[in-house]
Amino acid sequence: MSQLCKIIPERCIACGLCAVYAPNIFDYDEEGIVLFAQEPEAHQQFIQDEQAAVLKAYQKCPVRAIVLEK
Ligand code: SF4
Repeated sequence: MSQLCKIIPERCIACGLCAVYAPNIFDYDEEGIVLFAQEPEAHQQFIQDEQAAVLKAYQKCPVRAIVLEK
């Protein structure tokens, strides 16, 4: 089952944690603000693989800039 993951760059404080936990999913722009590694223009993505890693990133984000929906 896939999971819808959204990112809210306006909330991101560029801490870098999400790409530590899910480096294949999350990346950053030149200011360190979160974006999707495979789809830099998108603000949401269906996650099929690495759901555990994405869940960890979601839990660790200090400002809830990552949102997971079932
Ligand atoms: S963990 Fe949250 S605040 Fe930190 S870089 Fe990722 S989205 Fe931004």
